[in-house]
Amino acid sequence: METQIQVQTQKVRGNGIKIIIGGGGFGGITCARLLARKARKYKLNAEIILADRNNYHLYYPNLYEVATSEEEFVSIGALKKSIALPYAEILPKGAAFMQGEISEISPENKTVKIGGAQLNFDYLVLAFGSVTDYCGIKGLQEHALVLKSIPDALRIRNRAEFAVQAASQDFKKKLLRIIIGGGGFSGVELAGEMLNLIQILSWKYNYPREKIELLIIEGSNQLLPGMPLHISEWVCGRLKKLGAQIRLENFVAEADRSSVFLNTGEKINYDLLVWTGGVRSADIPFDKAMPSDKKGRLLESAASFCVQGCDFIFAIGDDAHVPDLHNVPVPQTATQAIYEAEYIAEAVMRKARAKQVPPFRPRAFGYIIPVKGKWAVLHLPSGLTWYGFLSWVARRFADLRYFSKLLPFGKAVRMAWFDTELYVKNDE
Ligand SMILES: Cc1cc2nc3c(=O)[nH]c(=O)nc-3n(C[C@H](O)[C@H](O)[C@H](O)COP(=O)(O)OP(=O)(O)OC[C@H]3O[C@@H](n4cnc5c(N)ncnc54)[C@H](O)[C@@H]3O)c2cc1C
Repeated sequence: METQIQVQTQKVRGNGIKIIIGGGGFGGITCARLLARKARKYKLNAEIILADRNNYHLYYPNLYEVATSEEEFVSIGALKKSIALPYAEILPKGAAFMQGEISEISPENKTVKIGGAQLNFDYLVLAFGSVTDYCGIKGLQEHALVLKSIPDALRIRNRAEFAVQAASQDFKKKLLRIIIGGGGFSGVELAGEMLNLIQILSWKYNYPREKIELLIIEGSNQLLPGMPLHISEWVCGRLKKLGAQIRLENFVAEADRSSVFLNTGEKINYDLLVWTGGVRSADIPFDKAMPSDKKGRLLESAASFCVQGCDFIFAIGDDAHVPDLHNVPVPQTATQAIYEAEYIAEAVMRKARAKQVPPFRPRAFGYIIPVKGKWAVLHLPSGLTWYGFLSWVARRFADLRYFSKLLPFGKAVRMAWFDTELYVKNDE
């Protein structure tokens, strides 16, 4: 991919430092923003470069809406605008952007290759995010759709529409089945929105709603594994009431182009298969093997939070193995990535000024899980749980809070408001 420096980089003079941030997702953009601000505050001569293969920052939490929108109501352009924020608009003063694929990292030489160009650095922050984990299941990668990017989301939406359109012409077809493999956060949110889409497509193609089945297959004994059981039961009850089928303690052992085979040996035909069963760290192109866990997340040195063996390289978010207070890796979420980025920005600035870096303190965050329409579950670390419309409103405020960190407040309000309008239009 061609590399283009879109913003003029500032040259480091004298004994300044050069910091490269690989990946401009939740962790990367937060780190860039705070590093630029702290460099100004400490009057540090720092060149900060954020590199990403895309020229926009993707707001994943709204990707389900793109995957389940209906073209009659919302244009693709409007949808893209609602979740893709161009770096040219959100990059902080004092940081530069470089578009390109990071293809090689040499800790020994302190260099990275971005597109064709080789750049040296003093500090490197890795925030490449994650990729879908197919868990070694035969046939899954070839036949299942996933939800990790705008093209993925549009593929799901188009394939769902095509499946209903085709079924409406096939008078012999008894049932159209959409399977979502994995009943974690992604599977549950997607299922909720997919129920909307099914309703709309059934109306649009005059195809009986009762002939469309949405089936969630989850390997553990509850939806949203890891969440308190009562939340899982509420969500399960809501999805069932809205017409979803749910199979717990069943996992997909194999898939081909029209069926999945469960661990029980049962074969289930499908028209559309979406895999939301897990993620693993994106491949990080080090020129030598680095210590990582089984999900590919880089191991951090406990004392300084840098990647083991390199006290000038840091990993954030989905790329980092960060143990919580019970020594269990923290979940791969945007809130965790932002929290770690806040710490790392301060750590880099302290290292650069030869100051001591305080230890990282893991923190638990709450969750807001929307499940179709203006309904969500809000669960706080204190154990407090709310269901319903107010939790959905809280989610819209969380969106606004995030946008307002990146955009001028007025624009952030317009963006959050515009999204809400757009997505609500899509709700039947
Ligand atoms: C559909 C969906 C919904 C989600 N909803 C929520 C939610 O509601 N709340 C929540 O807390 N979390 C949510 N998450 C999880 C959350 O999005 C991730 O945990 C978070 O994005 C991780 O942040 P990150 O900075 O590690 O990586 P990302 O935000 O994924 O950013 C990685 C960046 O690196 C770039 N990149 C990758 N490889 C390269 C390379 N080789 N060269 C150059 N650039 C590269 C990518 O283009 C991307 O911009 C959701 C995830 C998905 C998929």
